[in-house]
Amino acid sequence: MGKNVTLVGAGLVGSLLSIYLSKKGYKVTVFERRPDMRKTNIAAGRSINLALSDRGWRGLDGVGISDEIRKIGIPMYGRFIHHKDGSSAYQPYGRDDQAIYSVSRADINMKLMDLAEQKAGVKIHFDKRCSQIDRNNLECSFEDNHTKEITKIKSDLVFGADGAFAASRLNMQLQSDRFEYNQHYIECGYKELIIPPGENGSFKMEKNALHIWPRGSFMMIALPNPDGNFTCTLFLPFEGEKSFEKIKTTEQIEAFFKEEFPDAVPLMPTLVEDFKHNPVSSLVTVKCFPWTFDDKIALIGDAAHAIVPFYGQGMNCGFEDCVVLNDLIEKHKENWSEIMKEYQALRKPDADAIADLAVANFIEMRDKTADPKFLLQKKIEAKFSQKYPDKWIPLYSMVTYSPHIRYSTALKEGSKQQLIMDRIMARPNIEKEWESPEIEKEILEQLK
Ligand SMILES: Cc1cc2nc3c(=O)[nH]c(=O)nc-3n(C[C@H](O)[C@H](O)[C@H](O)COP(=O)(O)OP(=O)(O)OC[C@H]3O[C@@H](n4cnc5c(N)ncnc54)[C@H](O)[C@@H]3O)c2cc1C
Repeated sequence: MGKNVTLVGAGLVGSLLSIYLSKKGYKVTVFERRPDMRKTNIAAGRSINLALSDRGWRGLDGVGISDEIRKIGIPMYGRFIHHKDGSSAYQPYGRDDQAIYSVSRADINMKLMDLAEQKAGVKIHFDKRCSQIDRNNLECSFEDNHTKEITKIKSDLVFGADGAFAASRLNMQLQSDRFEYNQHYIECGYKELIIPPGENGSFKMEKNALHIWPRGSFMMIALPNPDGNFTCTLFLPFEGEKSFEKIKTTEQIEAFFKEEFPDAVPLMPTLVEDFKHNPVSSLVTVKCFPWTFDDKIALIGDAAHAIVPFYGQGMNCGFEDCVVLNDLIEKHKENWSEIMKEYQALRKPDADAIADLAVANFIEMRDKTADPKFLLQKKIEAKFSQKYPDKWIPLYSMVTYSPHIRYSTALKEGSKQQLIMDRIMARPNIEKEWESPEIEKEILEQLK
C-alpha cells in the first residue's frame, strides 16, 4: 500500500496524529477548515483551557514533544472549592506529586501545528473545508473558504479528525449500511468569562489549582494561564429558574453573580460585558460505530467520540487514540486491515466508558464536591489506597494518572468500589469511626 495520507482537521488530535504518521514515514497532508490561528485571532470569547493529564502526556511523549508543551502548562495539584458563603476548601487530586496541567486550547493547538510543520514536515492547508469523502474512490473534496474552488485529493489512507461535528463522520454515515449513531446534549451550556491578572501579572487566586464554585444544578470553574489570567467557564442550564435564558440584563447578571459567586465578583471587572458578549455553547456526547471503513478510512478524536468535558479527558482520550494506533502500526507491521480492525475493537469500549464517566462526573463536580458526606468518602478511600495501593486506586486516579489502565477497566473497577463505599457510608457512625481499624477491615473483607 502507498503511504499518502489525507488528514481532515488540524485540531489537537489531527495535529498530533500527523506527527505520529510522519515519523512512521507517511506523507501526511492536512486540510483545515479554519484560517491559520497563528496568524488570525479566531478564538476570542471561546479560548477554553484544558486539563492535560497522564494519558495526554503519554501521547506527547510518544513523539518526544512533552517538554515543548510543558512550557505552556501550569500544574494544578487539587481542587479549590469556593462555597456560597465565601469560605473555601482545598482537595488534593492525588498524591503530592500528582498534577493535571492547565493549557490553553489555542496555545497547545498552535504549538502542535508548529511542531507538525517544522519537526515532522507535515503540510497543512488552511481555509479548506472537507465537503465530501467518496468512500469507493478514496477521494476527498475540499472547498476553499474564499474562492469556493473545490480541490479533489486521492490518497492511500484518510483520517477524519474534524471534531465533534465531523464532516468525515457524516459522510461515512451516509455511505454505510448499519452505521450506529447517537448524540446527546446535556441541559447545560457553557460561557467563557475571565479573571484578569493582578498587579505585575500576579495571580488573584491560588495559581496551582482548579477552582470550582459548585452550586447544585450549575457551577463555575476557573483554570490558570501563564500570564496571570484565569479562564472561567460557567456551566448553566439553557432554560429554567437559574439559566442562560433568565440571565440577560446587567441587573440580572450582577444579581446572579453576587448571590452565587460573591468572592469571584470583585475579581471580574469586565464580568457584565464578557457575559453579554461571549457566546453560549452546547455540550454534546457523540457515540458512533464503526470508526473504520474498508481498511482505508478511520475516524479519530472527537470525530469518533465527543464527550462532555467534566472529567477533563476529551483531548487526553484523543491523544491516547494516537498512541494505540501507533502501537498497532508497529504490531501489525503496517497491515492496515489488521490495524483498523483492532483499533476500533480496542478503542470503542474505552471511548464509551469515558463518555459515561464524564457525564457522571458533572454531577460530582457541580453537586457533590460541596457535600460533607462525599468528602468523607473520598478521605476514607484516599487513606485506604495509601495503605493498600495495590488493592485500591481511586477512580479519579485510574482515569487521570494511570494511563496503562483502560478507561473501560476504570469504569468497571470504579463501580465495584462505589458499591463497597455505599455500604461503608451507610454505617450509622461513619463520621466518628472512619479512621478505625474496623472500617479498614470491612473494606478488606468486601474486596474479597
Ligand atoms: C468547554 C470544554 C472544556 C474541555 N475541557 C477539556 C479538558 O479539560 N481536558 C481534555 O482533555 N479535553 C477537554 N475538552 C475536550 C477537547 O477540547 C476535545 O476533546 C479536543 O479538542 C478534541 O480534539 P479533536 O482534534 O478531535 O477535535 P477539535 O479540537 O475540535 O479539532 C477539529 C478540527 O477540525 C476542523 N474541522 C471541522 N470540520 C472540518 C471540515 N469539514 N473540514 C476541515 N476541517 C474541519 C476544526 O476547525 C478543528 O480545527 C473540553 C471541551 C470543551 C468544549
